Amino acid sequence: MKPLFPGPSSPMGPKRAIWPAVKNGLRGRCPKCGQGKIFTAYLKVADSCSVCGEELHHHRADDMPPYVTMFIAGHIMVACVLEAQEVFPEMPTWAEMTFWPLLAALLCLGLLPIVKGALIAYQWALRMHGFGPESADDKGFEPRRLESRRD
Ligand SMILES: [Zn+2]
Repeated sequence: MKPLFPGPSSPMGPKRAIWPAVKNGLRGRCPKCGQGKIFTAYLKVADSCSVCGEELHHHRADDMPPYVTMFIAGHIMVACVLEAQEVFPEMPTWAEMTFWPLLAALLCLGLLPIVKGALIAYQWALRMHGFGPESADDKGFEPRRLESRRD
């Protein structure tokens, strides 16, 4: 019988380097090989890498990419608005009401796939969710665990 949790008798496999994987993810590339693409569309994650076959559908990025994107974009926007008020103190209101929302939207749309790729690669490097061997995500839920508790 296989153990419920990873331990010395069931190693999770070799340690994965986090930073190289995240750098690949930032470029939208497979965290394992760095050549295949993570996304098949703007934010649609490929089921597996087209080059090395690494399964990518295990990711659980969920709401984290938008959260991190808004955090980064917000800090950039605040700095830009404050600087613009110093450089262009007479900027008309209509121009500000047009330019800043447009810039914020474009910044978020540009950052979102970058951030999502990096977070998926980070999950892969840490073997989170189904990225590790024999993950609970692959086995389904509970029947084996319930059987093993009876032993
Ligand atoms: Zn790959």
